[in-house]
Amino acid sequence: MARVALVTGGTRGIGAAISKAMKAAGYKVAASYAGNDAAAQKFKADTAIPVYKWDVASFDACSTGIKQVEADVGPVDVLVNNAGITKDGAFHKMTAEQWSAVINTNLGSLFNMTRPVIEGMRARKFGRIINISSINGQKGQFGQVNYSAAKAGDIGFTKALALENAKGGITVNAICPGYINTEMVQAVPKEVLEKSVIPQIPANRLGEPEEIARAVVFLAADDAGFITGATLSINGGQYQI
Ligand code: NDP
Repeated sequence: MARVALVTGGTRGIGAAISKAMKAAGYKVAASYAGNDAAAQKFKADTAIPVYKWDVASFDACSTGIKQVEADVGPVDVLVNNAGITKDGAFHKMTAEQWSAVINTNLGSLFNMTRPVIEGMRARKFGRIINISSINGQKGQFGQVNYSAAKAGDIGFTKALALENAKGGITVNAICPGYINTEMVQAVPKEVLEKSVIPQIPANRLGEPEEIARAVVFLAADDAGFITGATLSINGGQYQI
């Protein structure tokens, strides 16, 4: 029986590449998204992967959404916590809304999504939880105190949850992408990308979403069961840890 994978933010950017790669690897995939219906419907038409709309910052919405996915597709074996946002600004000008939106979407979502699936994984003695953190959670970034705090929190979440579940066939790992060629990065002005971002990357280019997806497929596999609590940097050599 094919395993079931649920990818949050799985309709665009890195998440869309993950959804497609997991489907190609033989998983039954469900992709969630927040509100960009046009992108989600196009993704669904292109891939035949079912899409579900809910806000990962809401525990109740996640519980209800996951129940629907499990009814339609089956119990979740692989959860990819990929959905994320930025709301950048210097900390001395940051609003409480910028702080809480980024913390709730990038870190709160890991509780909201994982809590409803972990008991089933424990009962079935198999699970893969893969959290998409960021290089900026490892090293900090100007203008991103909120995002860096949330993404560093994702790593702590990963390590602690891995300890609690290592005996039960469940692995929990984090991936820290560097600059990846998605709309999130395309929002950075071209000149800034070319003059100051790319020169910081030893590989001298942005990463591609498929290069993150490849690592997710690797960590999700049945025979990756001894890899848990790990943080995998995929950043073209920009930050070595
Ligand atoms: P995109 O902005 O391209 O896509 C984000 C996806 O997340 C969309 O599907 C979006 O849904 C969904 N999403 C956003 N907020 C919510 C929410 N509240 N509830 C449900 N879904 C939500 O992002 P990327 O592909 O660039 O980034 C994916 C992940 O990788 C993020 O966690 C990001 O922080 C991380 N990352 C990205 C890097 C990069 O260089 N791109 C670098 C390091 C980490 P919708 O389409 O409806 O808006």
